Amino acid sequence: MKKRIALLGSTGSIGKQALEVIGLNPDRLSVEVLTANNNTALLIEQAKKFRPAEVVIGNESKLKEVKEALRSLPVRVSAGQQALAESAGSERVDMVLTAMVGYSGLIPTLKAIEAGKDLALANKETLVVAGELITRKAREKKVRILPVDSEHSAIFQCLEGESGNVPEKIILTCSGGPFRGKSHRELQQVTPSDALAHPNWSMGAKITIDSATLMNKGFEMIEARWLFGLSPRMIDVIVHPQSVIHSMVQFRDGSIKAQLGLPDMRLPIQYALGYPERLYNAFPRFSFTQYPALTFEPPDIENFRNLALAYEAIDRGGNIPCVLNAANEVAVEAFLKGEAGFAALPEIIGKILRSASFIADPSLEELVETNRETRARTESLIKSGRW
Ligand code: MG
Repeated sequence: MKKRIALLGSTGSIGKQALEVIGLNPDRLSVEVLTANNNTALLIEQAKKFRPAEVVIGNESKLKEVKEALRSLPVRVSAGQQALAESAGSERVDMVLTAMVGYSGLIPTLKAIEAGKDLALANKETLVVAGELITRKAREKKVRILPVDSEHSAIFQCLEGESGNVPEKIILTCSGGPFRGKSHRELQQVTPSDALAHPNWSMGAKITIDSATLMNKGFEMIEARWLFGLSPRMIDVIVHPQSVIHSMVQFRDGSIKAQLGLPDMRLPIQYALGYPERLYNAFPRFSFTQYPALTFEPPDIENFRNLALAYEAIDRGGNIPCVLNAANEVAVEAFLKGEAGFAALPEIIGKILRSASFIADPSLEELVETNRETRARTESLIKSGRW
């Protein structure tokens, strides 16, 4: 039987690699829904090749263009954020891969859960913003969440066959990003193009900047906290510049399990889509002799304060991780536009966190409002230049 997939965010880095995996497994996987926000050219090309039943373009002004281009195909084309969210609950699909960027993944992810679809979760910000809500609803609906993030896929794989054995600790590995070892003064000089050159992983712009600031690792700690039901203090971060060990789990007998492989996002994507089966692929294999040294060091939280801010945010809980995410999204956009320096990012985010109003048990509406308000506050802080 084929697993029928809705791919939300098909034109981004994860989306493109997911289609590659699906294309290599046509007897096991099919794509029924494709969605994108703006990139009509690629969306149209993908739809012609993969023949989904449904295509959604987020930007409504582009509906006509997509409809026109696909009019000879038996495909339903719609547009807008509402249609995008509805497509996540489509009757035609068994699994929803959420590969959109940032906060925009929240509502479609909730729709997919409400419709009882298994999730392949690549949009970690969703769990940062609303981890408690999402995991509670997933339990209620008996929906399985399969992580696509390489670290969480590693942890998930290490926990397979360990039911009942609660981990003592999770060790999240971190490449350290392109600026590992740089001083505060050096960090003040880095440009967006320096930050976009990640040493090991090929990813989209937002996550590449988050990797350079270590906010990505902070988000992944929060993601792990919700996916695996652990206290944040049971989650350690260790810098492993080769990105070969994707993460580890330590059990109460002191034994540690690690999952290894080349840094290639197609592997965790394929694992999530194929689960519980391991599908064959012909991707390059890891060779130990080509990596004679795997090294480890503690993260530098003095110069990369975003990681400490993420621990602070999850400790405070409630709507504060949502504030963290919104402030970070705006700060990263400002950095990419040259409106804020790299070293200023934790200062901006820290200031916004400290002045946020706290809601202990936020509803979805309160999270939506927290996101809106925090974005506005961060934008005006950046405009004022006074952080
Ligand atoms: Mg990751």
